[in-house]
Amino acid sequence: MILILSGAPGAGKGTQGDLLVQRRGYKKISTGDALRRQVKDGSEVGKSAAAYMEKGQLVPDDVLLRVLDLELGKYSDGEVLLLDGYPRNLAQAESLAHLSYKIGAFLHLDVNRDKLIERLAGRRVCHKCEATFHVTDSPSKRGTECDRCGGKLEQRKDDTSSSVAVRLEVYDKITHPVMDFYKKQGMYRRVEGVGSFEDVYKRLEQQIGTL
Ligand code: AMP
Repeated sequence: MILILSGAPGAGKGTQGDLLVQRRGYKKISTGDALRRQVKDGSEVGKSAAAYMEKGQLVPDDVLLRVLDLELGKYSDGEVLLLDGYPRNLAQAESLAHLSYKIGAFLHLDVNRDKLIERLAGRRVCHKCEATFHVTDSPSKRGTECDRCGGKLEQRKDDTSSSVAVRLEVYDKITHPVMDFYKKQGMYRRVEGVGSFEDVYKRLEQQIGTL
C-alpha cells in the first residue's frame, strides 16, 4: 500500500516520513532525495534534473517516472510505502493511479506560509548523511557540523530566498490542485503541521489509524 505524504516545501514531509520509517517500519521514497543523489552521482538523470532543481522548478515528468520506477523496484509487495514529494502535478497523480499499487491515503501536512518560510530559511542539511537541522528550532549540538556523523552542514541550494519563492509559487499553482484529485476519491486527510514534531506525528498516526 502507498501512503502519499504531501505538503508545501518546508511542511515537514521529510521529518515526519523519517519518524514513520523508524517507528512503524514503513519504507519511504522521497523523489527529492532520489534526485539529489542522482545529481551528486553526476548521472544522466541528475544532469537533466539539476538546473530545474536549483531554480525551484519541477523536473519534467518523464525524468520523474524513471526515478520513481527505479525506486519502486527496490520494494516488495506487502510493504507500506510512503511517497514524499510525488505526485506534484495532475499528470503524475494520473500516472500513479495507473500503477498496480493500492493508494491508502493522501496525507496533507498543512502549514501556514510564514512558518514555511521560516523553516526553509533556517534549514541546514548534512552533506554526508542528509540529516536535517534548523538553526534555531533544532540546531546541531556541534554547531555547523552534523550531530550524527560530523559532516558539514549546508543550506540546500534551493532553500535560498529566490528559489523558495519559485517553489512556493509552483506549489500553489501546480501541486496544490492535486489535492482535489484525491478529495474526489475520498483519500484526502488534512493534518495540522504546525507544532512540535511529536505533536504533528501523533496527529498523523491518528489519521493513519482511521484507514
Ligand atoms: P523536495 O526535496 O521534495 O523539496 O524536492 C526538491 C526538488 O526536486 C523540487 O523542487 C523539484 O525540482 C524536484 N522534484 C522532487 N520531486 C518532484 C516531482 N514529483 N516532480 C517534479 N520535480 C520534483
